[in-house]
Amino acid sequence: MKEPGTLEDLRDVGAYLQGHFLLTTGRHSDTFFLLARLTERPKRLRPWVETLQENMKNIDAHTIVGPAMGGIIPSYALASLRDDARVVFAEKSETGTMVFRRGFRLERGERVIIVEDAMTTGSSILKVMDAVLRQGAQVSAVGVLVNRSFDGKVPWQGIPFFSVLDVPEIETWMPEDCPLCQQGVPLSVPKE
Ligand SMILES: [Zn+2]
Repeated sequence: MKEPGTLEDLRDVGAYLQGHFLLTTGRHSDTFFLLARLTERPKRLRPWVETLQENMKNIDAHTIVGPAMGGIIPSYALASLRDDARVVFAEKSETGTMVFRRGFRLERGERVIIVEDAMTTGSSILKVMDAVLRQGAQVSAVGVLVNRSFDGKVPWQGIPFFSVLDVPEIETWMPEDCPLCQQGVPLSVPKE
């Protein structure tokens, strides 16, 4: 077994792919993270979440919020390591915001931790923060398994941020500039 919390660990479970990929932005890349290949294996996921919990053990919050879909399993796994924690998730609305459905409610002033599998721009985490604030609750911390944010900056202030693995920025290309297209490497769409 590979050392948990590393790129090698992700590669070993098929969560870190190298090839020629079409991203949702329309750009092409030679690298793709498919964290579902990690989160579908509870015993491989567990040490990642234990690291997150170790870093967040002093965060005073009893509710874990995961954005659907990627945040649901890691947030549940983290909640299972914390005393008296509950876990809810926010999901995309028709207008592109994040909302709580299924009767999930936060109390006014309730402190929450947001957990996501992988973060790139942080835009979905910002939308979950909005959803939390709209309920009158507050965000005490954010934790992610894999942080792919550009130069390590996060798009919010004053909220502690924890990641298990920070990966360097991945190069992407417009299709017309893509060296892999020029070499005739077949393009794949990894989430389908
Ligand atoms: Zn290409």
